[in-house]
Amino acid sequence: MIRVYNTLTHNKEPLVPQIEGRVSVYVCGVTPYDQAHIGHARPAVIWDVIKRHLERRGYVVFHVQNFTDIDDKMIVRARERGESVSALAERNMKRYLTEMRLLGVEPPHAYPRVTENMKDIVRYIDDLIDKGFAYATDTGDVYFDVSKKPDYGKLSRRSVATEETGHRAPEAAGKQSTEDFALWKAQRPGEPVWLSPWGRGRPGWHIECSAMSEQYLGPSIDLHGGGIDLVFPHHENEIAQTEAHLGKVISTIFVHNGLVTIADVKMSKSQGNGITLESLLGRWDPAVLRTYLLSVHYRSPLAFDEGRLAEWQKALERVWAVQSRVLDLEPPSGWPHDPWVAELLNFEEAFLQALDDDFNTPKALALIFDMVRKARPVIDQGGAEGEAAGYLTGKNLRLADRILGFLRHELTSTGNNNENAQTTVLTQLVEARQRARSEKDYDRADMIRQALGEIGWGLEDTPAGPRLVAQPRRDGEPLKPTL
Ligand SMILES: [Zn+2]
Repeated sequence: MIRVYNTLTHNKEPLVPQIEGRVSVYVCGVTPYDQAHIGHARPAVIWDVIKRHLERRGYVVFHVQNFTDIDDKMIVRARERGESVSALAERNMKRYLTEMRLLGVEPPHAYPRVTENMKDIVRYIDDLIDKGFAYATDTGDVYFDVSKKPDYGKLSRRSVATEETGHRAPEAAGKQSTEDFALWKAQRPGEPVWLSPWGRGRPGWHIECSAMSEQYLGPSIDLHGGGIDLVFPHHENEIAQTEAHLGKVISTIFVHNGLVTIADVKMSKSQGNGITLESLLGRWDPAVLRTYLLSVHYRSPLAFDEGRLAEWQKALERVWAVQSRVLDLEPPSGWPHDPWVAELLNFEEAFLQALDDDFNTPKALALIFDMVRKARPVIDQGGAEGEAAGYLTGKNLRLADRILGFLRHELTSTGNNNENAQTTVLTQLVEARQRARSEKDYDRADMIRQALGEIGWGLEDTPAGPRLVAQPRRDGEPLKPTL
């Protein structure tokens, strides 16, 4: 049984999907006003692992993550750069998708964007007004009336009545109470706008997730994710909106990840200390980055320290050295009666149980390193024992890697003829390019690199020689799952 810590109840609870065998997941995604940084990589990798684990446990997972492609930060940045909000969003979303692909993150089933779901959002707000939970002002803004929700604050455990109100921000015209939050913002000069019954404007931040999670996943979801900084006000407001609209909680379980910090400061670009994912992926193997991000439990804060990446690289190199010897081994001819055989046979269940327990990736990683450390001397010694240990270690590494993604994936033989043939062609192309370079025929070398790019491979020149990297698919188009 999978148990998950639920921020709503402050308890670890069994995951009981509303539809048996199907888990719906909505994760609050990025606002693409700039490049992604390590703080964006963490939730992406965590949810990638959660999804893969749920699938390994037999669930069908529907995973949706949004792009907030219109908001104040987008408008300000686009203005600074002298470009349109949509051009800024497009460029950064494309870059984000590429970086996710390089990180080994499987794309969610849909990446809905606010600007492409405006009709649903407007309809949602209209319904909140009809039901008496929201009001429009004379200036064309729409606010959610928090006083209509007596249980407002149940996620963050804040009570409106006892909130400190000594430092009120100046009230916007027509807003009835400090706590009320914007559902629709009337047009301001030079901003992109959409049509609505209240005049031209654009949606507030919170309404998009209530509207799009319902649109893409149905009225109530099983798991709702985001950083711990989203508990208030973002998720609190989503709860209020969805309950007012549908009379149902937006999600049975709220899963919040700890933030990435540097010297105890939350990492965000607005504080200017972001380490871009692009620069980290240029310096480190994606498997090292993933492992580092998973080495701390998702609910704990992660104090980013690039020095730790070097340590994880070293630790993983020991695993990769074993990987290359065991991954493609055939089953052994016999099974020795040694206690470590039983231990290797039990690995799979121990590993999966670690993840069943609120996705305990540090424990799962510890099991992998422990297994490799114990199995290596047996593999080294060869014979029937070595053969059995090698085979089981390979099998276990493959299973664990399918969920966590820590192995180094080079172009290796996979036993599949098509892939073998492709591997041969790729190897020949890379060698031909190397020859061209050594003969200083750079035009030809570039041509070969381009040819590789056209068939989906990028080439990185590393100190250890050229390395092929699978290029991301263009997954920008939102796709609605058929439910
Ligand atoms: Zn959200």
